Amino acid sequence: MPIEDKHSAIMHHKTVPLLCMTCGFETTIKRPDGRTAHALVEAGYLRELRHELDVLRRADYLFRRFPKSRHKLKASHEQTTPNDSPSDEDRAFAEALAKDQELYDHLKNAGFLLTGRLRFVTQAVAELADEVNARHLSCDNCETGILAPEPGFFSSLC
Ligand SMILES: [Zn+2]
Repeated sequence: MPIEDKHSAIMHHKTVPLLCMTCGFETTIKRPDGRTAHALVEAGYLRELRHELDVLRRADYLFRRFPKSRHKLKASHEQTTPNDSPSDEDRAFAEALAKDQELYDHLKNAGFLLTGRLRFVTQAVAELADEVNARHLSCDNCETGILAPEPGFFSSLC
């Protein structure tokens, strides 16, 4: 859903369900004004990016554990050539990767270079967190978490 549509969906919704990203506290906001609607859309992106950052950090950790591996799911995210026949370290890498289904799916389906993407997402998370924090979307329950529309909110409007 494009960003303008998300913004107007929030504006036209009488009550928007919110969820704290840190403690899971549930609340609602009634008829948010334009600036708050904008901040809520950004908070939704922030949650998605934080999740991606978590996956990327697991990739980084795994890649560092097997520095010599040129397994195809590692090489394609490092701009190196994959090994034609798997080495011992490639097999060990594959075995460790198999324990993290979400990371496996992400490496298989998303095209990115790990170093660059990690740098970009880290910076984007920091910038968005500053922006969202400045709009006072903090959680009433834990006081440090940020409130964002419930994960299914936008898809439920389509
Ligand atoms: Zn909270």
